[in-house]
Amino acid sequence: VELPIHEAVLGRAAEFGDAPALIDGTDGTTLTYEQVDRFHRRIAAALAEAGVRKGDVLALHSPNTISFPIAFYAATRAGAAVTTVHPLATAEEFAKQVRDSAARWIVTISPLLDIARRAAELAGGVREIFVCDSAPGHRSLIDMLASAAPEPRIAIDPVSDVAALPYSSGTTGTPKGVMLTHRQIATNLAQLEPAITAGPGDRILAVLPFFHIYGLTALMNAPLRVGATVVVLPRFDLEQFLAAIQNHRITGLYVAPPIVLALAKHPAVTRYDLSSLKYVISAAAPLDANLAAACSRRLNLPPLGQAYGMTELSPGTHVVPLDAMADAPPGTVGRLIAGTEMRIVSLDDPGKDLGTGEAGEILIRGPQVMKGYLGRPDDTAAMIDAEGWLHTGDVGCVDGDGWLFVVDRVKELIKYKGFQVAPAELEALLLTHPGIADAAVIGVYNEDGNEIPRAYVVRQPTAPDLTENEIMMYVAERVAPYKRVRQVTFIEGVPRAASGKILRRRLREGA
Ligand code: ATP
Ligand code: MG
Repeated sequence: VELPIHEAVLGRAAEFGDAPALIDGTDGTTLTYEQVDRFHRRIAAALAEAGVRKGDVLALHSPNTISFPIAFYAATRAGAAVTTVHPLATAEEFAKQVRDSAARWIVTISPLLDIARRAAELAGGVREIFVCDSAPGHRSLIDMLASAAPEPRIAIDPVSDVAALPYSSGTTGTPKGVMLTHRQIATNLAQLEPAITAGPGDRILAVLPFFHIYGLTALMNAPLRVGATVVVLPRFDLEQFLAAIQNHRITGLYVAPPIVLALAKHPAVTRYDLSSLKYVISAAAPLDANLAAACSRRLNLPPLGQAYGMTELSPGTHVVPLDAMADAPPGTVGRLIAGTEMRIVSLDDPGKDLGTGEAGEILIRGPQVMKGYLGRPDDTAAMIDAEGWLHTGDVGCVDGDGWLFVVDRVKELIKYKGFQVAPAELEALLLTHPGIADAAVIGVYNEDGNEIPRAYVVRQPTAPDLTENEIMMYVAERVAPYKRVRQVTFIEGVPRAASGKILRRRLREGA
């Protein structure tokens, strides 16, 4: 798709007119498609007048609000590349991203202004901080709506110009700035659309953060492109989330595994009327098939579907199409989308392609493969080979019908006496224990120098006496001997990234 992202998403805004595009799930404030279209154009004009130029990087620092998409599309229309910032980032973390991305502009919200100011001071190079709401001494997007500046005439080249500069989750190392062009993002939206058909009348709940590529795509770009309504929540609070589904008659949920866990296990779920839901899709981290089944049973829904992707893939390559959810095999992350190629190659002999049912590293080639990591040519070259194949670092296998199963990340596999153990498999098994609320597994080295699986377990409040031994026995009865959990540590909560991924390095640092 050869269109700038704001055109690719809002191209049909006039047609959708008075239909609600965005609803604030906390106070009900609603923006129609006509408003989103008009507002983002006005603000683009005001940003250009304020000095934003093509190629500038603008840091968007905000939790999910109804202003977030407007700020995003206004910035891209003004020619900027948007780098999205975690709203809970410290000033130091934010400053690092400002420096790394050479951001010249910041858009924030007044409650976060002090952090944004401090980050700008630490990093240097920021010309102005705008606020979405209002704050003394700063231009606000609301005031900018009144701007009489002419719409900027900016020639965007969708093929080479960067639209978004999200940072990867930092699960395996330092988060890296991922350069995604207008065309990469717009094309991926078009590739995913047939599988996740939504349209006017559908109501999507945006609780996962827009700043991460999954939320940006599934909760912002994709639904706004087709005229659906996005109900926006600033953070995940289970009761508020359930109330929003009930009160706004939400039809579709895009979530990550921790929310599936809550939906499957938390007692509060039964107190709400969730009958408007038609489907639930989970992505971003491994999800156990039993947990998925427990969730859909409890919600009285067709089997939950998964999608697979990564920041470097704009982000999608696989999804269980809505019309195939009932038939897809349990545990699959989906089928390859159109216009994308995949190979599964041997972990021991990377040149060797594997066949059906054999697990190896997933390689992807297609129009959604990133332009590269910003300022990290070596990392880019290590990720994308000379033939254009992106090495995902994920282990997977494909069945005879083309369904992909993700085993785990190559880097997370535990090598126990020469055998490979996938933490994700053990975590899924641990979660089936009624006394376990949450769990994470990492490899640690014992006194003999052998890598062994250690489980970090959060006990259910109803099972305060559950012991290490009981847990190890529970696993031992259900897996091959080499996969046994050999150490258990009780913790209060599993550290996770905003996208729902377990931060194993946090556990390792504490280990
Ligand atoms: P970093 O690259 O900085 O270490 P990250 O890889 O976690 O962080 P993201 O781009 O947010 O950053 O996540 C992509 C990864 O998420 C994939 O490589 C894969 O490991 C995981 N993932 C995504 N979807 C699924 C899924 N459905 N099942 C299992 N894992 C998934
Ligand atoms: Mg990654």
